[in-house]
Amino acid sequence: MSERIVVVGSGIAGMCTAMALAKQGLDVTVIERDDPPPQGDADKAFFEWPRRGATQFRHPHAFLGLMCNLLQDNYPDLLEDFYAAGARRVDFKDMLSPELLPKYKPEPGDDKLWVMLCRRATIETTLRRYVERFNNIRIVNHITIDGVVAEGEGGHLNVRGLKVRRDCTEVMGEEIPADVVVDASGRTTRFPRWFQALGVNVREENDDAEIVYYTRHYKLKPGVEEPPRTGKDRSAGDLGYIKFGVFPGDNGHFALIVCLHKVEEELREAIKDGDKFDAICRSIPGLAPWLQEGNVEPTTPSFGIGDIRAVWRHYVEEGEPLVHNFFAVGDAALRTNPLYGRGCSTSILHAHILGETLTQTSDPRARALAYDAQTEERLRPIFQTSLTEDKNGIKRSLAVADGHLLEESDSWKKRFGLAFGDALAAAARYNMHVNRGLMRTVNLLEKPGAFLEEAKTKRIVLFYMLRGRSRNAGARIVRGPSRDEMLDMVRRFA
Ligand SMILES: Cc1cc2nc3c(=O)[nH]c(=O)nc-3n(C[C@H](O)[C@H](O)[C@H](O)COP(=O)(O)OP(=O)(O)OC[C@H]3O[C@@H](n4cnc5c(N)ncnc54)[C@H](O)[C@@H]3O)c2cc1C
Repeated sequence: MSERIVVVGSGIAGMCTAMALAKQGLDVTVIERDDPPPQGDADKAFFEWPRRGATQFRHPHAFLGLMCNLLQDNYPDLLEDFYAAGARRVDFKDMLSPELLPKYKPEPGDDKLWVMLCRRATIETTLRRYVERFNNIRIVNHITIDGVVAEGEGGHLNVRGLKVRRDCTEVMGEEIPADVVVDASGRTTRFPRWFQALGVNVREENDDAEIVYYTRHYKLKPGVEEPPRTGKDRSAGDLGYIKFGVFPGDNGHFALIVCLHKVEEELREAIKDGDKFDAICRSIPGLAPWLQEGNVEPTTPSFGIGDIRAVWRHYVEEGEPLVHNFFAVGDAALRTNPLYGRGCSTSILHAHILGETLTQTSDPRARALAYDAQTEERLRPIFQTSLTEDKNGIKRSLAVADGHLLEESDSWKKRFGLAFGDALAAAARYNMHVNRGLMRTVNLLEKPGAFLEEAKTKRIVLFYMLRGRSRNAGARIVRGPSRDEMLDMVRRFA
């Protein structure tokens, strides 16, 4: 008899887990509390699907190279479905700076450096319809899991099933028996609390990124083309007090995003107003071309999401699993700041690690240990880099809010760090080899920063350092209003 595997949650991690396990020949049941996507096109899902279970549903999502290549290698027909729904592939060449583009000659490996763009409603709808076609996956909606059934003592639990919320029990009974439970219930997972009630303490690393992430969606008017990518102002950047970006979507839709540190209370209040959101974006040269008067119409108000954290949960302590027959994937296991766009990539990688683990052995302890070891080896470096980026981002935002200039430094060590950062930014902008390396890191196709270990990269970055900071600074500087100018503009806004 095959194992009864139950996945809780049909978000991106849940769907990727179902696919990864089904591909290994395993039978999977996915339990989801929300409605399934409505019948119809991407707009119907975007405007009408009440997707309460995934708070980030209306924020834009892009897939990095890691996810794109995993999809291409394992589910090429799913990619075709994405394209048919309007998703776009953006290749390495399309992302080059205006300085590098004329020098571009394809090299082996460039075909891995691509990203995919469309609205999350389009992602989820397409993924769902694809997963529904697997004979060995069953998805049940409108069921809320309300607890875990487990036996055991002394801090070690054997999970045996799930408890169903009382108003759903007519459909599923009081409990769902399971040989393996997968927690894909996302950032608000309640499994750690349920385990705690059973005497097992799941240790958590939990660091606040101290930002709030704001989005507004727009649609290009008929006949209007997207602004070219070759302008001198980049469409994503960091002005110190504000981070911004464009997410081109599917079917003429796009979204602008703006991130502010929590201390920026006045700007945070202003940005909740759609007209002020637009005015703030128009004042940033990298975003302004997207909001040309008469070219676009907003399709949503501006809205934000807080509680942005780096979270890592430990289910193995001192070499022993805390629970058997239980695996957390995706945001339920680890979260990184959405600014870096890594969550879906880490989720699908995690799902594949689980697929490999479950087919290698049927021993619950060996499975838990192997899953943990692979998660540490392949996901921890990504998590750790994100955490370091968060800490640096917090320092920068607080310094600017305090009236300091970003390039100021009070120690030799910091001055060296700044000079290195400027040299790397310049090398990545003007040198193809360094740019390729950086893009491998950004797309999670190598251990973060591995390209910096190469002798050739080191030589090039050193060359740029020797040119001096003033020549390199141009690659770092993002044009846009200073914090005081932005506050002034917002205060004057009628
Ligand atoms: C603002 C923002 C922007 C982001 N942008 C990107 C991006 O550009 N690129 C990227 O790769 N990642 C991005 N991410 C991260 C990405 O959204 C997640 O990492 C990814 O979707 C994996 O989430 P998940 O499936 O684990 O959880 P979720 O998407 O939260 O799904 C969890 C599911 O579980 C269900 N559920 C929860 N509890 C229960 C229960 N008790 N019973 C039954 N069902 C339950 C929910 O209804 C939901 O469907 C972003 C995140 C945020 C917050």
